Amino acid sequence: MRWDFEKLTAEAGQEIAACSDLKTLEALRVKFLGRKGLLTEIYASLPTLSAEEKPLVGKGANELRNKVTQLLEEKKNILESSSSSGPAHSIDVSLPGVAPLVGHAHILSQIVEEICGAFEHLGFVVQDGPEIETEFNNFTALNIPADHPSRDSFDTFYLETPDPDQKGRNLLLRSQTSPVQIRLMKQFKPPFAVIVPGKVYRPDAVDASHSFVFHQIEGLLVDEDIKFSDLKGLLTAFCQRLFGDKTRMRFRPHYFPFTEPSAEVDISCYICDGKGCSVCGKKGWLEIMGCGMVNPKVFEAVGYPKGKYTGLAFGMGVERMAMLKYGINDIRIFSENDVRFLKQF
Ligand SMILES: [Zn+2]
Repeated sequence: MRWDFEKLTAEAGQEIAACSDLKTLEALRVKFLGRKGLLTEIYASLPTLSAEEKPLVGKGANELRNKVTQLLEEKKNILESSSSSGPAHSIDVSLPGVAPLVGHAHILSQIVEEICGAFEHLGFVVQDGPEIETEFNNFTALNIPADHPSRDSFDTFYLETPDPDQKGRNLLLRSQTSPVQIRLMKQFKPPFAVIVPGKVYRPDAVDASHSFVFHQIEGLLVDEDIKFSDLKGLLTAFCQRLFGDKTRMRFRPHYFPFTEPSAEVDISCYICDGKGCSVCGKKGWLEIMGCGMVNPKVFEAVGYPKGKYTGLAFGMGVERMAMLKYGINDIRIFSENDVRFLKQF
């Protein structure tokens, strides 16, 4: 046979492999596949061949054309991807990789974790409870009287589902995390120390400092012989852990139905260290939570023996803690899903 296709294929392969630029590659394409190229020449010779040779040469020529076309295409891709003008889809394994986008916990989740973590260090255990509650757990057992304004439907979301425990009343969306205290006291025998994060709901109009849903963290410690000084020591340790070692703390007398005595907790402003600035409203102090000794009426409501146990309780707003810690002045920004805000934390 006039053509040795095996040899031609091997030679074409070598020439294409040795080629190092697109211009030379184009010259090779013309040499093999062009109008005056080798394959045209082979196909042109077909009519002059014998009947036995014709199919063999035709087959060999087709195979050679396919192989050369494939090699030229592959080489072209390689040469294009290594030049800057190459198409974007080509892969250069020597370039640094593109790191995938990795998200992170929302700022409120981070604060919840930080606060719960601080109390876990002090021996507390994280617990949670349902967001749909009974009026007994949310109000009655917490010594909130039947005519208290917070029970009004203007201050609490009532559901249409009837309360299975109390005829004529409906279930509600908890307006505080405190009902979880009631559930846990019914479930556990003292001593125990729990920290309870969760969402709470109130029909408040949304503005810079109010929302119909927000987060609270509630703590409860019950044992025999727990004193007010335990409460003060515990909260001092917590405040210094969260806001820094130099933080000072003070109690202001207050009233909560479920604790007696009750207090509001202020810390020295971490911006001005008590001198007065715009964050603390020139007061030098920042209000961060409410606390007190568990009211004996609450122990009575959950069926504890009279006079046997004492306990301490405290609660704080998570959004408020985040706003204080990072100087954020609008509660709405936490739920607007603005990535420019969220990725700062
Ligand atoms: Zn200040």
